[in-house]
Amino acid sequence: MPKINVLPKSIAELIAAGEVVERPASIVKEAIENSIDAGATHVTVEIQRGGITYIRITDNGCGIASSDVPKAFLRHATSKIGKADDLDRISTLGFRGEALAATSAVSRVEMFTKTADEDFGTHYKIEGGEEILNEEIGCPEGTTLIVRDLFYNTPARMKFLKKDVTEGTTVSAVVERQALSHPEIAFKLIRDGKQTLSTSGDGKLQSAAYSVLGREISNTLIPVDLMLDGIKVTGLACKPVSCRASRAYQFTFLNGRYVQSGTVTAASEQAYKNSAMIGKFPVFVLCVTVPFETVDVNVHPAKTQVRFSDEKRVFTAVYNAVKNAILSGDTRPEIAVTPQKKNTFLHMTTEEYRQTGVNLPTQESLEVKQEITKPKTEPVRLNSDKTPFFLREEFKPNVPEKKSVAIEKEQEEKPVVTPTPEIKPTETQIATEEKEYSPESEVKLIGEAFNTYIVAQKGDSVFLIDKHAAHERILFNQFKAAHTVESQNLLMPVTVRLIGDEYSAVTANLDLLEQYGFEIEDFGNESVLVRAIPAMLEREDTESIVTEAAESLAARGSVNLDRIDDILHTVACKAAIKAGYITSDTEKLNLAVRVLGDNDIMYCPHGRPVAFEIKKYNLEKYFGRIQ
Ligand code: ADP
Ligand code: MG
Repeated sequence: MPKINVLPKSIAELIAAGEVVERPASIVKEAIENSIDAGATHVTVEIQRGGITYIRITDNGCGIASSDVPKAFLRHATSKIGKADDLDRISTLGFRGEALAATSAVSRVEMFTKTADEDFGTHYKIEGGEEILNEEIGCPEGTTLIVRDLFYNTPARMKFLKKDVTEGTTVSAVVERQALSHPEIAFKLIRDGKQTLSTSGDGKLQSAAYSVLGREISNTLIPVDLMLDGIKVTGLACKPVSCRASRAYQFTFLNGRYVQSGTVTAASEQAYKNSAMIGKFPVFVLCVTVPFETVDVNVHPAKTQVRFSDEKRVFTAVYNAVKNAILSGDTRPEIAVTPQKKNTFLHMTTEEYRQTGVNLPTQESLEVKQEITKPKTEPVRLNSDKTPFFLREEFKPNVPEKKSVAIEKEQEEKPVVTPTPEIKPTETQIATEEKEYSPESEVKLIGEAFNTYIVAQKGDSVFLIDKHAAHERILFNQFKAAHTVESQNLLMPVTVRLIGDEYSAVTANLDLLEQYGFEIEDFGNESVLVRAIPAMLEREDTESIVTEAAESLAARGSVNLDRIDDILHTVACKAAIKAGYITSDTEKLNLAVRVLGDNDIMYCPHGRPVAFEIKKYNLEKYFGRIQ
């Protein structure tokens, strides 16, 4: 029989420490939380070698009374809870009373601390859980915690530490999150003698985001602010065009602390659907506030995973908050035209001038940088079969009678399109809209670059409009509003072979496809028989459109809404005028008027921007007309 031993305190302490202190970042996180709980407004973190050999956290918080200092290093010693009930409404960050005990069990710790009441501060040293020094000392109010030689007494654990750089980066991430969740605190991070982060502590999330995320990203952020069903969602989220290739810039704070919540991430990303490019992820800093009882933060010992008692309610609140922000705060992306230095020619030597020439925007840098369909080398004849819907129908939607009447009426109210590029309001319009009419709001067609980008002027801006993306979005919006797409029967049904997932995705969605203009039968043997396709598509495209719809259906999850959008994306994309095709001035103007008059035509359904704006003011600055 193995004999049962009660472990000596020091070993029990070491085991417990392992749960709290995994790496330098865990110490930094706990220490910053203590500083925040202590009411600090300035917190400085300094690390060397990724924090493995040296961590120092200095705050200007309330400090610890000299008689309490040794107690603070005991396990389950905390000033934050006294009775079991308190556990239900934990508002402070730390509460287990373990951090200082665990840290001092596995490293050499030194503390300087002073409260406002006491004349002297305390200088305390504890190594491997053993008190080494406890003396009075003169020091400023607040607390400085120094942690040296992490895991010096548990070499096995030291082996699990990653490279210095990696540990240091994890520490940075911890400080960044704290800085974002506490804009009212000025944080500094010094890594191996270099200051790598400094926030102002002015209380504005925007300022903290600027310091943490950098200028480029923080400039694209839109404020989020919504209270729904007892859940408050505030913070910042990026414009759809600024979504990134990874989720690295997503921060969720729940009741003030950094958490990871699949629900919040999914809800935010859902809000960008149809505006952000596929495969790109939004940047956001969201502060979600829910009643303390409705969240369980103790799911994971490191306390970053959370569970809500009502995930759906949280999803809805976050989705709406972000969606509202995007709808109200998004503007068309601007092409920045950097102003030249004043009087370049007068003050520069030839050599200096040549140097600046290198940095001046070239024709290329002013071009809209986005992937486009390669312009067709052979322009399509105006009356060719390829573009008839665009030319003939001038955006009349393929919708049932009642709907199309409503939309046509709306179109009539818009300025009448004349063959000349400039729109003149008709007499009736001047009569009825006298007050609203202003020459500044006219859309004027300037031309088209590369048979792809319509150049138009409106108010004090010039716009470059990607005609394919714009038309695609317009069609997509129309289909979506109409909930149906008109169909055309094929003279000869077309058999389309589909593989595995795609075949099952199509056969499982035959009804949905029918609603959007496809009549498809399961033909067995991984093939389908297509009898009808949406009216505005070309018959010879049948195979490719069915295959594309199948691909996106197969790639998508099971949410109904998503599947409809996928079908509509595919149809709109195929039906839209292509880049490179020749379009008449009337069509161009018509398109520009639609795009610039409707803020919901901002991105194509795949998330590419529809238009870029160049402000007159910026041009004038650039050309030195204004200083
Ligand atoms: P907890 O934070 O869970 O209470 P800790 O081990 O982190 O446990 O800290 C123990 C106690 O030490 C805290 O409750 C607090 O009273 C005190 N303390 C720790 N760090 C600080 C600090 N920076 N400023 C003031 N008091 C502190
Ligand atoms: Mg603590």
